[in-house]
Amino acid sequence: MRPPDPTAAVPARPLPGPLLGLGRSELEVWAQQQGQPAFRGRQLHDWIYAKGARALDAVTVLPKAWRQQLAATSPAGASDWIGRLHELHRSVAADGTTKLLLATHDGHTIETVGIPAEGRLTVCVSSQVGCPMACRFCATGKGGLQRSLALHEIVDQVLSVREAMDARPSHVVFMGMGEPLLNSEAVLAAIACFCDDLAMAQRRITVSTVGVPRTLPVLAGLALERLGRAQFTLAVSLHAPDQRLREELIPTAHAYPIEALLDDCRHYVALTGRRVSFEYILLGGLNDQPRHAEALARLIRGFQSHVNLIPYNPIAEEEFQRPAPAAVEAFRRALLERHIAVSVRASRGLDADAACGQLRRRLDPAFRSDRAMDRMPL
Ligand code: SAH
Repeated sequence: MRPPDPTAAVPARPLPGPLLGLGRSELEVWAQQQGQPAFRGRQLHDWIYAKGARALDAVTVLPKAWRQQLAATSPAGASDWIGRLHELHRSVAADGTTKLLLATHDGHTIETVGIPAEGRLTVCVSSQVGCPMACRFCATGKGGLQRSLALHEIVDQVLSVREAMDARPSHVVFMGMGEPLLNSEAVLAAIACFCDDLAMAQRRITVSTVGVPRTLPVLAGLALERLGRAQFTLAVSLHAPDQRLREELIPTAHAYPIEALLDDCRHYVALTGRRVSFEYILLGGLNDQPRHAEALARLIRGFQSHVNLIPYNPIAEEEFQRPAPAAVEAFRRALLERHIAVSVRASRGLDADAACGQLRRRLDPAFRSDRAMDRMPL
């Protein structure tokens, strides 16, 4: 299997594109280009981000003649100048976890999830339609990549969750569909928008990657250039303590030896001054044994990092097992005893198809098959 080309999936932002994702000064410039005074751009900013306007026609503070004139045209990549996505389905779990299936203007579907917890609301956003990385345990990886998401399609997800849950998101994790490092430009532009236009703190944002050769230095460089400082958390999906087992779970990893990935992580830490965290999916009997914990501890020794253990959420096509609770606890302890900071991610919203990639596969006809799962019996 050929490794994906990190430059191929980065979409150029089509101009003139949708307004969602633009900052205050860019909206001022846009208004002026349309022959309007700059303050119209500030009004647009307020209506798009604070009021959550879904269509330009709803921005009643703007002159009617101008709105009518704009309604006659549409930007590349959207049917309305603002560029909001359309909610196709909403699924709410008993614990409040809310999963949205959103449609893009060209008929793709993506998932986004709002996860409420005490004092916080985390949005798990998608960065691509589908994903080319083909991790064996991942529902999204089964369908391949359709395309990367544009800036407005990433930003929309946070606004859509805010609307659906009537609460202000405090945290964003790029742990939905897709590989963010194959769409770094749009991901970083979205982070800038979350911070500047939606007043979120960069430290409350996490970008999760399974590792794509040559992309981590690019991410660090772009972050420093675009955001001034890279303060978001980089989470690396390690999932195995050695190359052989990692390749078994993540076939694309053969192009990126685990040592090279860790070297790139060290380089990232040096460039940004931020720690990385490691994600480790626990698959019953496969990578959840004490010897795996010991090997993992040896592998990341000297790294000031945090390990996030993720008990596997079953998907229909694979025969992996959820780890036994005792194995999860033993793994956690083995890392702690070796002085590695560790947490276990609680599964949320499984009763509402909120586990990875499942709602889309159940509801989108393009992904429905005889094998597609309904709810997982959990
Ligand atoms: N492509 C990125 C981000 C999307 S996946 C990455 O791989 O990091 C976000 C996290 O969910 C990753 O750690 C991924 O390995 C994990 N994940 C995917 N499928 C899962 C499943 N069935 N059960 C538990 N975690 C899963």
